[in-house]
Amino acid sequence: MTNNKTYFIANWKMYGSTSSVKTIKNVIKLSKLRKLNKAKIIYCPPFTLLADFVKKTKSSKIVIGAQDCHSSETDGAFTGSINSSMIKKTGSRYVILGHSEKRQSGDTDSEINKKIKSALKNNLSIIFCIGETLKERKNKKTDFILKRQIIKGLNKVKKLNKIIIAYEPVWAIGTGVIPKIEDLKMQIYKIKKIIKKEFKKQNPKIIYGGSVNSENIDKLNKIDNINGYLIGKSSQNSKIFIDIIKKTIN
Ligand code: PEP
Repeated sequence: MTNNKTYFIANWKMYGSTSSVKTIKNVIKLSKLRKLNKAKIIYCPPFTLLADFVKKTKSSKIVIGAQDCHSSETDGAFTGSINSSMIKKTGSRYVILGHSEKRQSGDTDSEINKKIKSALKNNLSIIFCIGETLKERKNKKTDFILKRQIIKGLNKVKKLNKIIIAYEPVWAIGTGVIPKIEDLKMQIYKIKKIIKKEFKKQNPKIIYGGSVNSENIDKLNKIDNINGYLIGKSSQNSKIFIDIIKKTIN
């Protein structure tokens, strides 16, 4: 783990209701402890719960993010869509873009690039997800895929300090499987190298996502070049989420 702030980003996907906002009360309590100054906790619930989460976490350092946005930063005739300006107005400060579940339903690198630019225009910070599929991994295409996703996704993006890169191997999401620690460490090193070389950005923030839980977190914490975690299923259970945070920040 690096000496910088450690991110714990909860991706609630398409789960939750207004009553589930109450379940995070112990995380809010935890976030107020002095030793948690080193942690940055971000909840990304579905759009319908953003305002409730913002209200509930107001007195804490927890911040809220959305899970996607439209590529237009202004309003328009796009039925079913939400833009970054609308997200910002809920009091949210982050947005997840490029998640594999959105890539699988049609988001291309260039669409993700447009979404990133639109979100930055509305002053949101970005959790930019990249990751290879199992097939790509088996075909030894991981490095090629990650480089393509980074270069195209961040093409002509200016404010790189507002971007956190989440390395999420698709085969690790929701499967209970995580990469071998040495492999993950190497992959994060390679991602940092690409960002430094292509975008001249020193020390980019890179987090890991994919089946993080309270059992494997000690192992993951041995990686010294990681800036935190993007956590799906385990973040929906506050007890497990707290366990992960406590085992990381000590
Ligand atoms: C995710 O979908 O971003 C994720 C990390 O999910 P999980 O932790 O459930 O694998």
